[in-house]
Amino acid sequence: MPFDPNASFGKSLFFGEILEDQIFPYPQMPRDQAELVQPICETIDKYMADIDRARLDRTGEMPAELLASLKEMGLFGVIVPEEHGGLGLSNTGYARVMQQIASWDGSIAVTLGAHSSIGFKGLLLFGTDEQKRRYLPRLATGEMIAAFCLTEPGSGSDAFSIKTSARREGDFYVLNGQKLWITNGGIADFYTVFAKTTPDTPQQKGRISAFIVPRDLGGVTHGPHEDKMGIRASNTTAVYFDSVRVPAANLLGEEGKGFKVAMSILNHGRTGLGAGAVGGQQRLLQLAVAHAAERKQFGRPLASFGKVKEKLGRMATNLYVSESLCYLVSATIDRGGVDYSVEGAATKVFNSEALWSATDEALQIAGGMGYMREQPYEQAMRDARINRIFEGTNEILRQYVGLTGLQKPGEYLKGLGKELSSALTAPIKSFGLLRDYAVRKAKQSVPMQALPYGREPQITRAHPVLQEQVVYLEDAVQSLAAVCETALRRHGRNIVEQQLQVSRIADIAIDLLALCAALSRTSGLIERKGLEKAKNEISMTYTFYSDARRRVRANLRASTGRNNDESIQHVADAAVAAGGYENDVLK
Ligand SMILES: Cc1cc2nc3c(=O)[nH]c(=O)nc-3n(C[C@H](O)[C@H](O)[C@H](O)COP(=O)(O)OP(=O)(O)OC[C@H]3O[C@@H](n4cnc5c(N)ncnc54)[C@H](O)[C@@H]3O)c2cc1C
Repeated sequence: MPFDPNASFGKSLFFGEILEDQIFPYPQMPRDQAELVQPICETIDKYMADIDRARLDRTGEMPAELLASLKEMGLFGVIVPEEHGGLGLSNTGYARVMQQIASWDGSIAVTLGAHSSIGFKGLLLFGTDEQKRRYLPRLATGEMIAAFCLTEPGSGSDAFSIKTSARREGDFYVLNGQKLWITNGGIADFYTVFAKTTPDTPQQKGRISAFIVPRDLGGVTHGPHEDKMGIRASNTTAVYFDSVRVPAANLLGEEGKGFKVAMSILNHGRTGLGAGAVGGQQRLLQLAVAHAAERKQFGRPLASFGKVKEKLGRMATNLYVSESLCYLVSATIDRGGVDYSVEGAATKVFNSEALWSATDEALQIAGGMGYMREQPYEQAMRDARINRIFEGTNEILRQYVGLTGLQKPGEYLKGLGKELSSALTAPIKSFGLLRDYAVRKAKQSVPMQALPYGREPQITRAHPVLQEQVVYLEDAVQSLAAVCETALRRHGRNIVEQQLQVSRIADIAIDLLALCAALSRTSGLIERKGLEKAKNEISMTYTFYSDARRRVRANLRASTGRNNDESIQHVADAAVAAGGYENDVLK
């Protein structure tokens, strides 16, 4: 069967199904895109080699000349369609460019990523022709820099609780409110702003709408540049909207549908962050390899010791899998896929954590030297840390992956019916919503064979040297479906409150998705290069398989009830009640 743009490979896993046609053969970047991207990457390398990254970090400022050079290189316009003056790169092409930039510097990558991945992505996805004609040419050149304004002092992960308001007055909306930690906040002229167009009531949260707010409307100001732990030269400020009169023509998408706009932007943009994490890992592996080869202890290079090899091997493996996952998802978007939110969130979680682990391991290989600020590891660690926090924290994204994945099995289990599935449709929005449903609906009313277990082999196109991995994957996907079913039966609508279980389900799915990506890519590489030349990729796939298998087994086991969920939450409650830690050997 051909690729189905409406199917979600990620969601199907929760249902015990592997949609082989969605991932085999592994997509290759089309030649015309590769030809566009290659010279951009070369230009980036040439330019970045002369940048004093340590100075950027120390001063926490992005010099005007540097921004001007990025504009000259066309880096603000990479995803703007050609007819509006940009390069019109595909999602994959853009991801590859972000990878290259992030392999040099986190602050520059975040500045450009906030512009393209989220700042004006709403305009591309939801803008009218008139809006695009008006703003895209200036966004492409960088004459206008874009920012995405969702977070507020009282509203981070709980995006639905924003307070910024937009009151309709004739042909205008009057915008009032404050946004916090906005990347490019102080240097942008184009803001995608989320505000409530109907107020909250005690019964119901107000509806959110999205707006294009150019700075020159008046009433837009920003706070001081935040003094951050990492990505210090990227501009992060509060942004204030004081009775800004926004023309009704600047509404982005439909009134009241702003939450969907925000989530679509974030879903679409996550491969940018995922690719940035690939670039970061590449650099760290390079640093670690150079040090391990050069540094001698006990008369031998560090790289000759098994425990150092283990670190390097795992860093390379995680990098390969991050890359495989990221470009599989970006290609899904490029092929017209519409349902990739689970895959995008999984990529963000997996890749940001792989990057974090790589910074830790590279620093460890460097030993005491790694701890010295003159070395690049300390900054790399500070820069990498943000990736687990912004664009949806990894905790929230795990809940998203788990609950969204559970939706389909939930629908299938008739006893849970429509009510559960509609609340699971928007899991972030619906924390607490399901509380109002009758738990009894979730009880054992559906026979176990309701879910379609016991299928024929579902992966037929992987190379035979990966047979063991394929057999395991097919089994594990069935186990995932079984765990989903058990969790839904046990908890019903209350599954939303079972965060530890949902997170385990998400972790199993993320590992299996990543394994699928690696199997597909490695099979493709074996086909193209032959077994001998693909030896390293095969070894990386074997390595990841055994790591993932260990984690999946532990998560499956813990899902059956053999876990410390209760005790650990009890300990947390006790710590909260005590205001910290009560024990003391002196007492
Ligand atoms: C450098 C930087 C740049 C940023 N750029 C932008 C930007 O350009 N635009 C923008 O709009 N925002 C931006 N942000 C904001 C960022 O998106 C938020 O910080 C992020 O969404 C988390 O929100 P919060 O900080 O309020 O944390 P909180 O929501 O308060 O969360 C704190 C912790 O609690 C956890 N948590 C919260 N709720 C739950 C729950 N229901 N279940 C389990 N765990 C939970 C979180 O995972 C997290 O670990 C930026 C932030 C930083 C630091």
